[in-house]
Amino acid sequence: MGVTTDDVLTAVRRYAEVLAVHRRLLIKLDSAIGDADHGENMDRGFRATVERLDNGEEKTPGDVLKTVAMTLISKVGGAAGPLYGTAFLRAATAAGDRDELDDETVVELLDAALEGLRTRGKADVGDKTMIDAWAPAVAAARAGVEAGRPLEDALQEAADAAAQGMRDTIPLVARKGRASYLGERSAGHQDPGATSSYLLFATLAGRDVDLTAE
Ligand code: ADP
Ligand code: MG
Repeated sequence: MGVTTDDVLTAVRRYAEVLAVHRRLLIKLDSAIGDADHGENMDRGFRATVERLDNGEEKTPGDVLKTVAMTLISKVGGAAGPLYGTAFLRAATAAGDRDELDDETVVELLDAALEGLRTRGKADVGDKTMIDAWAPAVAAARAGVEAGRPLEDALQEAADAAAQGMRDTIPLVARKGRASYLGERSAGHQDPGATSSYLLFATLAGRDVDLTAE
C-alpha cells in the first residue's frame, strides 16, 4: 500500500509538533549566525498550516502539500518561508492528483522539492544551508528505493544522511543567506535551516526526534 492523504496529514501535523518543541533551539542556532527568527518562522508557518488543514478540504496528498506550500509562502517571511514553500509546491506538483503515492513517486516528490530549493536559493552542498541536509537525504532515499528496499527503510537512511549533513554544516563558512554576511565567523555553528530540514526527514522516518535533550 502506498502513502495516503491521511499519512501526509499525519506527517505534517507531527512536523508542526516537532517544530513547536524545537522552536527555541532553532532560534538559538539562528541567533548565532542569523537574526534569531528561524524557530519563530517555522513554528508560525506550520501552526498556521495545521489550522488550515483542520478545515479538512484536502482530498489528495498533493492537495495537502499544496496547502502547506501556500501557507508557508503567505505567512512566513525571510528566506526559509519561500524556500520551504517552493519545496512543498514542487512536491505537490510531482504528486499530481494521485490518491496514493507509491515508493518511486515519493522519491520523485522529494527530488522535485530539492530541485525547487536549488532553483529558488541558488545554493549547493557546502554553502552551509538547508541544502546540506536535503541533498544527501534525497540521494539516500533514492538509493534505498532503487535498491528495492521498502520506503520505510529508505526514509531511515534519508534521516541518517540528513543528520550527517546537518552536523557537517558546523565547520562550514556560509556562502548563502544571512549567515554569509558573517564570513569566516559563521564557521563553528550548525546551520538552523539544515537543522529544521533534518527534523523534517526525522519526522518522515517516523522518529520521535528531540534535539533539545542533547
Ligand atoms: P532569514 O535568513 O531570512 O532570517 P530564516 O532564519 O527563517 O530566514 O532561515 C534561515 C535559513 O535559511 C538558513 O539557516 C539556511 O539554511 C536557509 N537559507 C538561507 N538562504 C538560503 C539559500 N539561498 N538557499 C538555501 N537555503 C538558504
Ligand atoms: Mg533568520
